Amino acid sequence: RAKQMGRNNFQRFDPGQDRRIQRSQAQRRRVQQAIDRGELILHFQPQIDMTRAEVVGVEALVRWQHPEKGLLAPAQFLPLIEGTWLEHALGEWVLATVMQQLACWKSEGCHLPVSVNISPSHLLASNFVDRLSGLLASMPSVSPSRLKIEVIETAAMHDIGKAMEVISECQAMGVQVAIDDFGTGFSSLTYLRQLPVDLIKVDKSFVSDMLVDASDRAIVESVIFMARRFNRTLLAEGVESLEHALALLRLGCPLAQGYGIARPMPAEALNAWLAEWPRREEWQRLASFEA
Ligand code: C2E
Ligand code: MG
Ligand code: MG
Ligand code: MG
Repeated sequence: RAKQMGRNNFQRFDPGQDRRIQRSQAQRRRVQQAIDRGELILHFQPQIDMTRAEVVGVEALVRWQHPEKGLLAPAQFLPLIEGTWLEHALGEWVLATVMQQLACWKSEGCHLPVSVNISPSHLLASNFVDRLSGLLASMPSVSPSRLKIEVIETAAMHDIGKAMEVISECQAMGVQVAIDDFGTGFSSLTYLRQLPVDLIKVDKSFVSDMLVDASDRAIVESVIFMARRFNRTLLAEGVESLEHALALLRLGCPLAQGYGIARPMPAEALNAWLAEWPRREEWQRLASFEA
């Protein structure tokens, strides 16, 4: 093949590239081991209804408790497996673990729904719906309405027809579907019209800067306006303060998630947080003030 391309254009042997490929294969194997060895863990971040100062759910966020490197964030290892079947393996581990956690919380009298992030390739995999329905059937004590899935817009970009079909099938099983990071894609408006999603999550990059950056605020306002026109429920990510919350409530966005409410935390810490919600009174005051 190098010859075909002509003498002046011969392909040079690049030892660096060889090493890079080997390294990325080794890194992927290491992620596989992490799943097998139980090194992955889930943290949970509360989602609240600001109009009532009530917790309405939690989002499951994966971390890697690496024996040498410590606790790794998703950005440090998910890119290594993007587009490979390992993404499905990880997604299935997260789904199964969340179902177990739901069963455990239910036995403790806690009925909060949990949202799970599903990667585009996993969502569009031919067996996604069958595997999910098998998982739900294997745990009849957990109502499918306790499980929610979050997908980013690019999931729809690859194949909008398939995405619509999978989302509808999830909903038919009783699993709600949210669009995550809304506003960061290229054709948000089209997707909003076509995708039958229950919830729209306004991306944290716009929300967290909305108080200091006029164009971010304009994007937040437009997204909220559109979502309301399409009768979709709205959740703002990246709510870092009560000032953010106040601005969002006034724009008509009822649900929120962010460091200003609580950081993602392990399941045990969440139990304690739910019992206390240390700053709940401030949120109650905000809710009654805006009512
Ligand atoms: P995401 O689904 O949009 O999740 C929200 C991210 O924003 C989380 O980062 C969370 O810790 C962070 N966050 C929450 N509140 C605030 C805030 O007030 N300010 C700021 N600046 N950030 C906030 P995390 O846990 O590092 O996850 C990053 C992304 O990795 C997630 O974004 C999601 O796309 C992906 N991810 C996480 N867990 C999973 C998983 O189990 N499966 C898949 N496929 N993707 C996951
Ligand atoms: Mg998410
Ligand atoms: Mg997001
Ligand atoms: Mg994201």
